[in-house]
Amino acid sequence: MAAARKPKLAVWKFASCDGCQLSLLDCEDELLQIADAVEIAYFLEATRAEVKGPSDVSLVEGSITTPHDAERIKEVRRKSKRLITIGACATAGGIQALRNFADVKAFTAMVYARPEYISTLATSTPIAAHVPVDFELRGCPIDKRQLIEVISAFIAKRKPVVSPHSVCIECKLKHNVCVMVAHGTPCLGPVTHDGCGALCPSYDRGCYGCFGPMETPNAPSLSDWLARLGMDERDLRRIYATFNANADAFRDEAERHGA
Ligand code: SF4
Ligand code: SF4
Repeated sequence: MAAARKPKLAVWKFASCDGCQLSLLDCEDELLQIADAVEIAYFLEATRAEVKGPSDVSLVEGSITTPHDAERIKEVRRKSKRLITIGACATAGGIQALRNFADVKAFTAMVYARPEYISTLATSTPIAAHVPVDFELRGCPIDKRQLIEVISAFIAKRKPVVSPHSVCIECKLKHNVCVMVAHGTPCLGPVTHDGCGALCPSYDRGCYGCFGPMETPNAPSLSDWLARLGMDERDLRRIYATFNANADAFRDEAERHGA
């Protein structure tokens, strides 16, 4: 009897730092099992080998920042039965979306000696703004446990178990003392998507929102509390305008404070 065909997995890169792809390579204990369960069809960070034909699951890292990439993502979508975006760049436009609030021509003139050779869009936008996306995995970088869960779920054709809760829930589960209540440390945990295991508060630091907005964030209410802790309008604007500056809830709140 012929062996069952393994699902084909492809990993694509757009404008990004590669950190989310490295999270997959960082799954040291599980990587061999993943490699055994799938056929790697395209993953330049790991191998130059390429398997022709459509992939069953595509992971897409990075945002759309050039006219060429705006076309390329349509081609990737055509070649992918399921398309999953990974990381703040792919799900919200990433840190490079700070250009969306500024003059991109001024930026390129500042950075490049010959800016006339640079072909770039005025904005950095998430993949879902260009093509249909089957699942968005958040984080900068993504959490490898969540990544393994999502890959396993799509291979098994089931729904991924990824909680939409806030970082606060993860703090409670770890029995962390709340840094904001106990020490007056500003923290975006109440409005930030979980997944990191409450990394920063576990080391007595406030969360700065690298996993982007949770499912039902109440950012205006949190901002009132942050203002009581001494943050002025400039601080409030800046705390929301980082890795996920273009995510709706964070962008709206930054703009409410003058972005
Ligand atoms: S989301 Fe963060 S870690 Fe991932 S590619 Fe973008 S900048 Fe890098
Ligand atoms: S900034 Fe927030 S979401 Fe990011 S690792 Fe720290 S606690 Fe987690």
